[in-house]
Amino acid sequence: MTQRESTTRFLKGIGASAGVAIGRAYLVDRSRVKVIYQYLLDDNKVEEEIERFRQAVDRAEEQLRQIQEEIPEEIKDQAGIFDSHRLILRDKLLYDQTLEQIKSEQINAEWALKKSVEKAQEAFAKIKDEYIRSRFKDVEDVSERILRNLTGKKVESLSEVPEPVIIVAHDLSPADTTQMRLDRVLGFATDMGGKTSHTAIIAQSLEIPAVVGLERITQEFSSGSLIILDGTNGEVIINPDQKTVQDYSNRKKNYEKFRAEIARYSHLPAVTLDGQALKVRANIEFMEELGAVLDSGAEGIGLFRTEFLYLSQKELPGEDTLYENFKEVARRVAPVPVTIRTLDIGGDKFASQMDLAEEMNPALGLRAIRFCLKEVDIFKRQLRAILRASLHGRLKILFPMISDVDEVLQAKAILKEVEAELRSEGIRFDPKIPIGIMIEIPSAVVTADLLAREVDFFSIGTNDLIQYTLAIDRVNEHVAHMYQPLHPAILRLIHQTIEAGHRADIPVAMCGEMAGEPLYIPILLGLGLDELSMNPVTIPRVKQIIRLISYQESRRFVEEVLTLTTTGQVNRYVRHEMAKRFPDLFGPNGNLLYS
Ligand code: PEP
Ligand code: MG
Repeated sequence: MTQRESTTRFLKGIGASAGVAIGRAYLVDRSRVKVIYQYLLDDNKVEEEIERFRQAVDRAEEQLRQIQEEIPEEIKDQAGIFDSHRLILRDKLLYDQTLEQIKSEQINAEWALKKSVEKAQEAFAKIKDEYIRSRFKDVEDVSERILRNLTGKKVESLSEVPEPVIIVAHDLSPADTTQMRLDRVLGFATDMGGKTSHTAIIAQSLEIPAVVGLERITQEFSSGSLIILDGTNGEVIINPDQKTVQDYSNRKKNYEKFRAEIARYSHLPAVTLDGQALKVRANIEFMEELGAVLDSGAEGIGLFRTEFLYLSQKELPGEDTLYENFKEVARRVAPVPVTIRTLDIGGDKFASQMDLAEEMNPALGLRAIRFCLKEVDIFKRQLRAILRASLHGRLKILFPMISDVDEVLQAKAILKEVEAELRSEGIRFDPKIPIGIMIEIPSAVVTADLLAREVDFFSIGTNDLIQYTLAIDRVNEHVAHMYQPLHPAILRLIHQTIEAGHRADIPVAMCGEMAGEPLYIPILLGLGLDELSMNPVTIPRVKQIIRLISYQESRRFVEEVLTLTTTGQVNRYVRHEMAKRFPDLFGPNGNLLYS
């Protein structure tokens, strides 16, 4: 181990899911072929690895020869490229270097090759001649070929993680996270991502501590290193000393004790000191979370992100599969309601089976309701399943990413068609199923009075509302510090939405991550929200705070907050007031004492 690899280092990122994890890191390289680091335990393994590498190169040579032989007449003059590729295969920079590294560092062939390619890249970068410099592409192509041979083309999946580890990756897609073997993943840390990226949200649901937006963690250490991950404070410590490990083990224990303690009171109702009741519901992504929801004290499900039923499977789920899922949720949560959000695919959530075109700005692209209004068959299949399941409990339908009244009218028209089809087939459903929309695009807020006439409820999606209002990509770690829920513009938009909803006599919920942030609870209550829906893990804490505050006081608090002009002022004021009001819960800077 080099000295750099054994020294203690601290990295600061964004805490995406609370809790502490201590364990060995498992590096997942998400470059073209996924490369995993392995430390070879003995000389025999080193010999085997060398042989494996040689064979992979031999195979690559054979493949290149074959391609060259079969090349069509018309492009025969291009065949020279394969000669160069064959030369690169055996080039010192790649071949000898990789063998040398397998031996000297006792690492697997894939990782050694990756390191050789990185070195070659540095060497190429220094070359003045642009053409020659650009030939680095050939080195990459050749190494990719060897890698495929080494890995047998199999795409490494996170379900293959060998033992309990902390996953470290440049990025993890929501689909990756859905494949994780929960019993083997202690936590994860990524270079990319913000607090409200879907990957972060899933980590919270799975109650896996996570730190995102670390920018360079994948380049900072070797796989197998011991690391501490503090998902509450957004910190990662690589190669910690004994004392630090002890310190964090204690924190981990305290945190778990604290969670167990507040969970004891989670079934008490969320009613303020002066008798104002607020509905506190759960957001879920997977059926597996239902148990946690029922334990958390949630009064139903305020947001079922159904797209994860599509992301975690090889094929698009059929109507019956969807129906079975919705029926089970409805049944298990009854008599309290479940709000099923229709497919919100796109943005940072992709399903490989759907073959969505790559878009320059996926968050502004064919996402959610836009996708459903185009792919009407997929949409109808889901609506049929929801309607059929509606007999088994109390279901509501929620349309995501609504930007204007037309979209609501179109979605409702399709729903009407589906209802008519079911009737003609003699299939029963709840004809009064409530229809709501997500308010998560600024244009929806501005036209909230018009939209309110068309629907039975609103649900404010602050994750996207903040993204689209402040022009801050929610998954981009470089602008994460600007992602500010307490921006006066955001507070005004929430206020406006609630007013419009209430004037039309419809309830207004909030289901973005902001709803589960303890610091914001008095503001959300004072603004007049009827329902908060959040990650089940935060429910006990949020209910605890609601029971400690007064509605009238919260209204006065909000009046004051709405007069402030900058995000900084609002932040300072809110933190100061919360620390003063709840010294047992918040530290002097307004940070939660335990979270
Ligand atoms: C939101 O945007 O706030 C929301 C709840 O939806 P999602 O996070 O799934 O985009
Ligand atoms: Mg959203």
